[in-house]
Amino acid sequence: MKESLRRTGAFLQQLVLPDDCCGCGVVGPSLCTACRRALAPDPVVRSVGGMRVVSGLAYEGVAQRVVVAVKNEGRTGCAGPLAAALRAAVDAASLQQQGLLLVPMPSTRRSAVERGYDPVRLLLRRARLPHRDVLRLVRRQDDQVRLDRTARFANVASGMAAVRPLDGARVLLVDDVVTTGATLGEAARAVRAGGGTVVGAATAAATPLRR
Ligand SMILES: [Zn+2]
Repeated sequence: MKESLRRTGAFLQQLVLPDDCCGCGVVGPSLCTACRRALAPDPVVRSVGGMRVVSGLAYEGVAQRVVVAVKNEGRTGCAGPLAAALRAAVDAASLQQQGLLLVPMPSTRRSAVERGYDPVRLLLRRARLPHRDVLRLVRRQDDQVRLDRTARFANVASGMAAVRPLDGARVLLVDDVVTTGATLGEAARAVRAGGGTVVGAATAAATPLRR
């Protein structure tokens, strides 16, 4: 009920107030022509712990502002070019292999509920990319008592596990933005622990590496 009210409110607001561009703030369409052009996918490849990660856009300038608008400001109407960037990254990361299982990063229930949607799944749907939720966050209480202090810290930081056996699955991990790669690295570990093979990862955007 709360969600439908929120959606109705957003819809009414769109009727009353002129829109502004998610990328530059200029009044007009939700994405102006210049910003759309700036969001043309330009896949870049990096290696995260030996895993090949392909990203459709550099997370800076227009792309960064649009990602923030979609992730944190509810501007889901601006998600189209990010979905196209993710699709380009998935195509490049797949290396024409068939039968890959696309696996998005697990989200906390609370963040998905607060937003009303989950950004990476929103992009996957918009890109019409079939995917499976086979990873879950390991609850902090799980197993904690049996771990030493360092291991506990690591476990709290980002513990993931496969929700079912992944024997024989060839997995392409998917996220909206890659920064340090820690999340993708943990996901890869969890997939392997579940019996699957990780062929690489794809993200809509990547934080540029500082030299
Ligand atoms: Zn713009």
